[in-house]
Amino acid sequence: ISSELQERLNIELDHVENWKDQSLFFFDSLEVNLVYYFIIATLFVFLSFLVSGWYLKHCFDRLSKGVQEISLGNLQYRFNDTTNDIVGNVMRNFDSMAATLQQKTLELQKINDELNKKADELQEANEHKDQFLANMSHELRTPLNSIIGFSDLMIANAHKYSPEKIQRYAHKVLSAAEHLLELISDLLEVAKINAGVLTLEPQEFDLNSLCRNVIEMLQPIAMNKKLDLLIEVKDEEVPILADRRLIKQALINLINNALKFTKNGFVKLTVETQDNEIFIHVEDTGIGISSKDHNKIFKNFHRVEQGLTSNYEGVGLGLTLTQRIVELHKGSIKLKSILNKGSVFTIVLHKVVKKEE
Ligand code: ADP
Repeated sequence: ISSELQERLNIELDHVENWKDQSLFFFDSLEVNLVYYFIIATLFVFLSFLVSGWYLKHCFDRLSKGVQEISLGNLQYRFNDTTNDIVGNVMRNFDSMAATLQQKTLELQKINDELNKKADELQEANEHKDQFLANMSHELRTPLNSIIGFSDLMIANAHKYSPEKIQRYAHKVLSAAEHLLELISDLLEVAKINAGVLTLEPQEFDLNSLCRNVIEMLQPIAMNKKLDLLIEVKDEEVPILADRRLIKQALINLINNALKFTKNGFVKLTVETQDNEIFIHVEDTGIGISSKDHNKIFKNFHRVEQGLTSNYEGVGLGLTLTQRIVELHKGSIKLKSILNKGSVFTIVLHKVVKKEE
């Protein structure tokens, strides 16, 4: 028994030795593995820091470049290829901020342009007003001086002057007073239109008869200047619904100007129709208007104050008034003119005036 026991004990001892070897091997390799894991983990952490550090630097570089561009005023700058993370979100926010800024800047620029245009217009209107006041005082003073001068003479010399001389002087007073009245009426008419208180009194009439009537009325002025004042109407009758008094005023203004600014040749009034439109041309062979003044002469109180026209009477209201009258009738006025050759003013009217809204 004891030898049997001894043998079994030996076998068990062998097993124990075996287990001991195995566990020693296990613990030995565990130690080595742990060292490997530690090295790999450290390397992994290190590499992750390196990659994320590089990525963050790249993103911040892009961000700072973009912000710099935007702050320097390049509002068209956009971050392309944004990622789906927090940095991409920041970039997209910057993009929409730049887009809003760009739109607001455009709006501001538009408002600024409009303000500048208004300021220019105001300045121009102011210059015209000054010019007008200077012209106006000259235009008022001339007939007033004539009225005062001739009245003075008549009062002081009434007993000496013959009735014919008194009559001649009285005529001069009368024509100066009429000129003044005309001037003031024009001025009031423009003021009324500008204030929007002039309302049309439309009636149906034949435009051709009105034109013939105006030509007849102005014939003496043409004869005085040895000019031919002609009329050509293409239709028998041109019925129109309009304010007769104002249309007559517009025609008189244009023909008076044509006669005033023409030395030789003719002034011709032509009326023609096309569908629902009526064209009234006033053509002259006068001094003409240079193209740079074509728009300006329709503005309040504007006169071409160079060379030839400065010798002519007028305050620069006739065309303003004419244009406003035509516009009140929903029509338009056009000008074709060549300097030193002549001008054609064309009024375009509708046969039936559209109702005011
Ligand atoms: P006014 O005749 O009182 O000066 P208008 O408003 O009628 O004022 O005309 C403005 C300016 O336009 C005139 O001073 C003149 O310089 C120019 N003008 C108008 N009509 C003619 C024309 N038929 N030929 C040449 N210049 C013209």
